[in-house]
Amino acid sequence: MIDLFKIYDDYILDLKDENFEKRYEGQDTWYHASGAGLCVRKHYYAQIEGLPSGDKDSNTMRLFRLGDLVHTDMQEALQRYADKNDYDVHIETEILIPKYNVRSFVDAMILKDGALYDIKTCNDFKWQSIFGRYGSKQAPQNYAIQLGTYGLYYRENNIKINKMALLFYNKNNSRVKEIKVPRTYIDMAERYWLKVQELFKEGLPPIEKGLAPVEDWECNKKYCSYFDACGGGIKGLH
Ligand code: SF4
Repeated sequence: MIDLFKIYDDYILDLKDENFEKRYEGQDTWYHASGAGLCVRKHYYAQIEGLPSGDKDSNTMRLFRLGDLVHTDMQEALQRYADKNDYDVHIETEILIPKYNVRSFVDAMILKDGALYDIKTCNDFKWQSIFGRYGSKQAPQNYAIQLGTYGLYYRENNIKINKMALLFYNKNNSRVKEIKVPRTYIDMAERYWLKVQELFKEGLPPIEKGLAPVEDWECNKKYCSYFDACGGGIKGLH
């Protein structure tokens, strides 16, 4: 009997491989902006040692797929609006910052407004941690540094950024909300990548809270593909 869930999971893995071939094959020494503001050892394992990141479990892969679908839908909506109104937009546009060895893809940049957006799908737990009654009401630091990295690319190319924002989509209830990111994160991103450059001159940076890992949550098998290579991160120290 055909197992449709298995077919779907295999399909997602095929799409992931196709996407990898299209976007990243032969480009594996560039750092990714999506890892900015997180554990620096992850960049080291991925780009300096060239360790494969491996597949995540099926639940996680399906969640990523859902995120991709929401991204594509919102980006297509923007592209359609831009075409009708004669706006120049960058959507899923490759950016390179050779000075810091960073390569990435921008979700959405509206050139006329100098407005830069990154789309984030999240679960309700994450949503509440930002927008809930006791939420931070601020962009998570790593997301802000990621967006700041895109801003840095535009600044390096003499394109003015007037606004940076994260567009959150709650996967539990389809609510959406925007949160602005101060443009000072462009400088913060530059400092982050400078620090990565400096640290890597000495080899693999030590395990140290606030640097590697930056946040406790990232230091486990689910969120870190290099957990075993790293000897269990902070847990391995005890
Ligand atoms: S296991 Fe922890 S310290 Fe090691 S690379 Fe992963 S996040 Fe960083």
